[in-house]
Amino acid sequence: MINRIILATNNRHKVEEIKLILKDVGIEIVPMTSFSSYPVTIENEKTLEKNASKKAREAADFFKEWTIADDSGIEVDYLDGNPGVYSARYAGEKCSSYENNKKLLEALKNVPQKKRIAKLKTVIAIANPRGKVLLVSGEIFGIVKGRAGIGGFGYDPVFYVPKYKKTLAELSLDMKNSISHRAKALKKAKKIIRELMNPSGK
Ligand code: IMP
Repeated sequence: MINRIILATNNRHKVEEIKLILKDVGIEIVPMTSFSSYPVTIENEKTLEKNASKKAREAADFFKEWTIADDSGIEVDYLDGNPGVYSARYAGEKCSSYENNKKLLEALKNVPQKKRIAKLKTVIAIANPRGKVLLVSGEIFGIVKGRAGIGGFGYDPVFYVPKYKKTLAELSLDMKNSISHRAKALKKAKKIIRELMNPSGK
């Protein structure tokens, strides 16, 4: 039975989103960055699943506690699913989101809107110190469009959601958190976390 879980990310936007989405579960979420030291996972796997598992497993082993981690990426149809797992370093190692978005818009410069279909995908891994890893995922479909909006992070300013006629960066955080890839994955993760907090409903 657990009453807290370590969040293995140093992305403050993810901390904010994950805390808000998991609020109703009533578990304490402790970002690993609140400790004086934490592991730095090298994200060199070829799939989001493997990277998310690696982050969660290494942190669970380090803290000797249940840990949650996510790995996300944008998959663009016209680019054969790229940048996908390489989304964070699409424009080069240690590049900014601005540079990634710039490169993506350039890659799609002469491509008509109907061919700019993309999905954002998140894989959430929940791991324990004995090496057990549970995986769930979530996706949202959209269109890569010119930058708009100042909210969110990463590819949000260029990820247009037709249903709302807005990019994810133009939506409020509450709205993003009700439709996003991360929200969908975390909805599934909630079931796992509730079971860890209260095994078999005891
Ligand atoms: P990672 O999951 O932190 O490795 O992120 C991979 C890439 O996807 C980075 O460029 C992030 O900025 C971007 N990313 C992660 N989550 C989101 C999101 O919710 N919206 C838009 N971009 C994201």
